[in-house]
Amino acid sequence: MTSSTWQERARDLQIDGRAFINGERVAARSERQFDNHSPIDGRLLGAVARCDGADVDIAVSAARAAFDDGRWASFAPAKRKRILLKFADLMQQNAAELALLETLDMGKPIKYSQAVDVAGAANCIRWYGEAIDKVYGEIAPTPANSLALITREPVGVVGAIVPWNYPMLMASWKIAPALAAGNSVILKPSEKSPLTALRMAELALQAGIPPGVFNVLPGFGNEAGSALALHMDVDCIAFTGSTRVGKQIMQMAGQSNLKRAWTELGGKSANILCADCPDLDAAVAASIGSIFFNQGESCNAPSRLFVEESIRARFIEKALALVPAYAPGDPLDDKTVMGAIVDDIQLKTVIGYIEQGKAAGAKLVTGGERVRLDTGGYYVAPTIFDNVTADMAIAREEIFGPVLSVLSFTDVKEAVRQANASPYGLHAAVWTADLTKAIQTSRALRAGTVHVNQYDNDDITVPFGGYKQSGNGRDKSLHAFDKYTELKTTWIQI
Ligand code: NAD
Repeated sequence: MTSSTWQERARDLQIDGRAFINGERVAARSERQFDNHSPIDGRLLGAVARCDGADVDIAVSAARAAFDDGRWASFAPAKRKRILLKFADLMQQNAAELALLETLDMGKPIKYSQAVDVAGAANCIRWYGEAIDKVYGEIAPTPANSLALITREPVGVVGAIVPWNYPMLMASWKIAPALAAGNSVILKPSEKSPLTALRMAELALQAGIPPGVFNVLPGFGNEAGSALALHMDVDCIAFTGSTRVGKQIMQMAGQSNLKRAWTELGGKSANILCADCPDLDAAVAASIGSIFFNQGESCNAPSRLFVEESIRARFIEKALALVPAYAPGDPLDDKTVMGAIVDDIQLKTVIGYIEQGKAAGAKLVTGGERVRLDTGGYYVAPTIFDNVTADMAIAREEIFGPVLSVLSFTDVKEAVRQANASPYGLHAAVWTADLTKAIQTSRALRAGTVHVNQYDNDDITVPFGGYKQSGNGRDKSLHAFDKYTELKTTWIQI
């Protein structure tokens, strides 16, 4: 579709910002709303329900009633599977609308909203639907006069709080395993990108997920979000977002009913590029592509590049040759690969870090400025800093924008030491043709995922999550069921 076709569709789009509780669209109890603007050009997309504690109480009651009467949890796993597969099908049938909502709301290029966000979210829902009638319990090797069954049961009412960078995908990583396991879910999307979550709830109902089982409450973190995390009748809170708020979530769980609290948090992923890497062009392309993908607004973006000193100049030269391809463009144009930063607040954060980098003495080799000002939207040129040192804020802190910090090393062990000297531990990478070095380095890196000679691989079958202050627990793969199920042991005397 051309940009003008997407624009036409955008004009015709009916946007409903009301909450979704107990199978119905409803206004916030207070009737308060907030304005939702598009980062593409600042246009007003519409008003969204500003839910707070009163709405959380209503949604939790609905979710609890749905869980307790077994209208979803008591379905045979094969029946839940069929409904989740239908939900995934409906997402694909409505892919253009969902992609358009995601791009308008969040600013990412439409081609990625389709190929990554809608496709990835539908695949995730399908995968957990497929999995749920293939997960078995266990029988423990106990003495002959007894039988001990180890079974998984749903935890009950799950509160899911997600960020704005991959709104549908992050939501599906939580709701798909939680629903597959038989829980009731209350999803709080980010106030910066609430639209696709609300539409997903309608599609889930249409697929056959009973009212009350999947609810969506848009609103602000310190209103709807904290009310959910503090609620005494929520059994589990599954959070993806910043490390700062993740710490508050753990505290709120402790302050209230000690609900299970799972956190998927920030990152400052280290990418170690050795002189003996098998293919420097491929390494440069993946390193640049991964930091600039999604406008750099990815938790696992390889934002700290450690390059061996002997190839540093060649790396910079090759990287600069690729940068023009990432020039920000109209997110509704199919050819655009870098879109808008999510809002003016995030724009100021990114520009603030760029200014800090310059002031600290890092060498700005490209970018470093806001672009496309005439659009009224929020765009930042892909930015690379060379000569970055470990003490600089741009080497230590998560920027969450299209900014690469290049540091150099002469001894790979020193690069690993610096890579690990971070509160974060989400992803890391090493590029080398030396098998021993690759294995030793990947073992030494303290991160939930380590990439060797690539950075792009991703699949629903593998766990995603971090060490240290990048969080606990894992999204994706069968391991995600650990978050949304309790293990029960049943002893039977024979
Ligand atoms: P954020 O922490 O500001 O907000 C995340 C969510 O928490 C939003 O829905 C927000 O409304 C809510 N929230 C904010 N304050 C709250 C409070 N006091 N109580 C309850 N909820 C509250 O993060 P963000 O800016 O939306 O997202 C960016 C962050 O998310 C980055 O740090 C990024 O690395 C991280 N992230 C991590 C992963 C992962 O899998 N590890 C994936 C995507 C994003």
